Amino acid sequence: MPIFEYRCDACGEILEVLARGSEPEPTKCPVCEGALARMMSLPADLKRMDGFFHKDNFSDSEIASKGLTKYVNRGDGTYEKAAGSGPKIMDRNKLPG
Ligand SMILES: [Zn+2]
Repeated sequence: MPIFEYRCDACGEILEVLARGSEPEPTKCPVCEGALARMMSLPADLKRMDGFFHKDNFSDSEIASKGLTKYVNRGDGTYEKAAGSGPKIMDRNKLPG
């Protein structure tokens, strides 16, 4: 079965969807409800061989080396930086939008 990848234009979230034919395509990011754009589809095995990006098997140092920033939800409305560059603490209530 093909796997389709969708990327959120707004926050960069990557969504992997196994195409089952009957289910409608996702159009909204599950994280921020931004618009999703479909990326290429690849067989799962090829993706593994390729070391294809998947956020779940990215280490913190890999995230930083790709110029990305990872934040961890501290549960009180703020996010603490775990990897990458950027402010050490992000306050959800002070984010634009
Ligand atoms: Zn998003």
